[in-house]
Amino acid sequence: MSTETLINFAYIVASILFILGLKMLGRQATARRGNMISSLGMLIAVIVTLSAQEIVSFQWIVVGVVIGGAIGLACARLIKMTSIPEMVALLNGFGGLASLLVGWAEYGKILAAGSTSSIFTGTVIVLAVLIGGVTFTGSLYAFGKLSGKLSGKPVMFSGQQFVNGALVLGLIAAGAVYVINGGAGEIGGNAFYVCLAISFILGVTLVMPIGGGDMPVVISMLNSLSGLAACAAGFVITNNVLIVAGCLVGTSGVILTIIMCKAMNRSLASVLFSGFGSDVSVAASSNSGSEIQGELKPISADDSFAVLEAARNVVIVPGYGMAVSQAQHVVRELAEMLENNGAEVRFAIHPVAGRMPGHMNVLLAEANVPYEQLVEMDSINPQMPMTDVAIVIGANDVVNPAASRDKSSPIYGMPIINAHEANTVICLKRGKGAGFSGIENQLFRLPNTRMLYGDAKASLQAVVSEFKAISDG
Ligand code: NAP
Repeated sequence: MSTETLINFAYIVASILFILGLKMLGRQATARRGNMISSLGMLIAVIVTLSAQEIVSFQWIVVGVVIGGAIGLACARLIKMTSIPEMVALLNGFGGLASLLVGWAEYGKILAAGSTSSIFTGTVIVLAVLIGGVTFTGSLYAFGKLSGKLSGKPVMFSGQQFVNGALVLGLIAAGAVYVINGGAGEIGGNAFYVCLAISFILGVTLVMPIGGGDMPVVISMLNSLSGLAACAAGFVITNNVLIVAGCLVGTSGVILTIIMCKAMNRSLASVLFSGFGSDVSVAASSNSGSEIQGELKPISADDSFAVLEAARNVVIVPGYGMAVSQAQHVVRELAEMLENNGAEVRFAIHPVAGRMPGHMNVLLAEANVPYEQLVEMDSINPQMPMTDVAIVIGANDVVNPAASRDKSSPIYGMPIINAHEANTVICLKRGKGAGFSGIENQLFRLPNTRMLYGDAKASLQAVVSEFKAISDG
């Protein structure tokens, strides 16, 4: 068997491990193993690539691995769970930059050899550079918005779509010149650098008009783009495993983008071009829907305990506030106590609760909440009218009934968890703070809702100690 056949065989094994790992990541019970299997695939791919390909400098690779590994380790330890979305944005950006640099290096190599690139090579170099460039600056901009370093409000100006259209046309024209010319001489060089510059600008101008509310969709789309850029880079250096891995990231990113759009009841086109996220994130100042009626009725921890002790059927709806207060462990404790008290307990999971896809699943898994207790929105909603108590823990937008009732609400059409249909709703939050969308929530003022004010963790601890006092006494 020739070395090349062996390499490709190893790459096929790595690709199969990636696919298996990805499939296992789709279920909480198998996710850890899926991660390990994908990592094994990556290890095989790296070892085979290092041992078989033309390596320019092992020393520089070691330096890169040590520095990159140290930064990765520090990030994994220091970054808070609530900051993961911006971290993902940053990582996508660097993925795009890496692919761009591969394309750029190949252009430099061809130039140094005094030759020109074929139509195919020229095309994949341009694709790696342009997709990588858009992903890089777009992700940096998204990082700035999500981390609060830049305003989450959309930045719009008249003729914006015309400018974006002109940039895309410029990019296509410069790319075509580079490909036709084979990257030779001054014309090829100018076309390459124009491509590079426009892709950087386009990344910013595309993300600019998208508001904070639509950022989850943008992040998954940028993730998909970083995969496509890697795929193009794989073609540039004829590396099969990079092509496959890039395609997997690209397609899974597209699937996630579609899921996120559905969860927010938005079309991708409206996310990208209408600046609606603006409506969501600045809704309070522009369009906040119909006027909210009714009073906020506070409830104490003692009284909440009394309500919960009598309940036979409880649904817990976690949201961003649970992540902020890190209440997941005490939530699990409460769920166990309710079960010991004879109640059926389930967790209602909204796909965009929190600040990243799967945010609630990750937190509840960390607290060892049994996977079977997590119920998705579509399955739990029909059971809400039969629920004795819904405990809403730091969730707001994802339980806002205006999304299904009030056509004037900026979040109208977004599917929600119908917590308001439970017999009694206990909402845990610190005060009158609005949700991510900035709009008020009628749920908090419904006759069957009681507000348990305070940090979610502290409030839950108070209720849990009541249960403990009963079981000890
Ligand atoms: P939310 O609408 O952001 O509301 C969170 C609520 O938690 C706030 O009303 C806040 O009220 C309360 N809170 C904050 N800290 C708290 C604490 N320590 N203890 C108790 N309560 C606390 O959350 P959500 O219902 O989960 O909705 C998620 C929103 O984020 C959606 O609009 C979604 O589109 C958007 N989004 C989602 C993602 C994603 O991928 N999941 C990414 C980006 C954006 P107080 O201030 O009064 O306490």
